[in-house]
Amino acid sequence: MPRITLVPTGQSFTSAACEPVLTAALRAGLNLPHSCKGGHCASCRARILTGDVEYPEGRLPAGITAAEAEGRYALLCQAYALEDVTVETREIRPAPEVEVRNLPCRIERMERLADDVMAVFLKLPAVEDLRFRAGQYVDFILPGGRRRSFSIASAPADGRVLAVHVRRASEHGFTGQLFDTMRAGSLLRIEGPLGQFWFRAESPRPALMIGGGTGYAPLRSMLRQLLTVGDRRPIELYWGARTSYDLYEHTWLSNVAVVRPGFEYRPVLSEPAREDFPWTGRAGFVHAAVLRDHAGDLEGFDVYASGPPAMIEAIRHEFVAQGLPREQLFFDSFDYAPDTLAAMRHDRRNAY
Ligand SMILES: Cc1cc2nc3c(=O)[nH]c(=O)nc-3n(C[C@H](O)[C@H](O)[C@H](O)COP(=O)(O)OP(=O)(O)OC[C@H]3O[C@@H](n4cnc5c(N)ncnc54)[C@H](O)[C@@H]3O)c2cc1C
Repeated sequence: MPRITLVPTGQSFTSAACEPVLTAALRAGLNLPHSCKGGHCASCRARILTGDVEYPEGRLPAGITAAEAEGRYALLCQAYALEDVTVETREIRPAPEVEVRNLPCRIERMERLADDVMAVFLKLPAVEDLRFRAGQYVDFILPGGRRRSFSIASAPADGRVLAVHVRRASEHGFTGQLFDTMRAGSLLRIEGPLGQFWFRAESPRPALMIGGGTGYAPLRSMLRQLLTVGDRRPIELYWGARTSYDLYEHTWLSNVAVVRPGFEYRPVLSEPAREDFPWTGRAGFVHAAVLRDHAGDLEGFDVYASGPPAMIEAIRHEFVAQGLPREQLFFDSFDYAPDTLAAMRHDRRNAY
């Protein structure tokens, strides 16, 4: 079994054959930087100092370029060690009050927010508590240990009932079943809080928040938390959706923009429908709208982005090219689950 050693901390662990380095690290209790776990978002990019890694089918994942791979960078959520390796990366220590828990929960209620979006309110056991930072996500644990990730849409201050906003992504997968068969009272198991996408309250900079579709959910949690604690920093929230029907909290956000000084709400529609007109807001891709407004001043902001992988990739490349310092960009990429990606790879292979 290959041994993986982290530099500079010297922490080490072993991985099973063809097991991604990140999976082995998480199993060993080391929380290395990561987000999508699907090879897209590049949050887990790290430099391989010695030894060699490989990817499933020998193919580079979408989130890394050939030049980066040649420079010995690797995406740890996909790469597996062929021999003992040393990797330059650091464990992210969660705040002392945040502990990852594996808990049963019950659906308290469900509320249809849009045609394909459901708010699901999860009630935890009375004696249990899930402390999290606004912006983090939970995994639903399915039979066979499969996982489906969903951001927490409620704020830490909202109490013991957690809300998630679920877009129906599949017909028969977890989200399809949730829409068709689950009801108030259904039992589920979650693990969390997970991820490093949380609001950096200690930063002095104003925040640009960019959500695509249900990517609004973790930003909602951050916003609600900031409202609760009376934070006054300037915040601009851009919410991208296809049509105005998908802006399922448009009224609440418009009201917040009226009553909370320094908060701007900018909805952006990519496919305004006939019924949307006259649409007086913005149209096009949400990240493009932000760039039009802030091309010259991005370095003065912290950027929080969550939603579809394509949106996150565009932001990672274009915003940094336009002067946003990498360390001021925080994001969660709403990617396919690891077992779904593996099944898609398998199908592709069998199609040839
Ligand atoms: C960190 C993180 C946070 C997330 N937070 C949220 C959230 O708050 N709300 C939310 O709605 N989603 C969120 N997602 C995405 C969500 O996890 C997937 O949509 C979900 O795993 C789909 O599960 P499924 O079993 O229904 O589909 P699967 O059975 O896994 O897939 C079946 C088919 O559905 C489609 N599909 C599956 N996943 C996606 C996807 N991500 N994008 C496009 N098509 C897909 C594909 O056609 C796929 O072949 C998040 C993802 C990550 C990684």
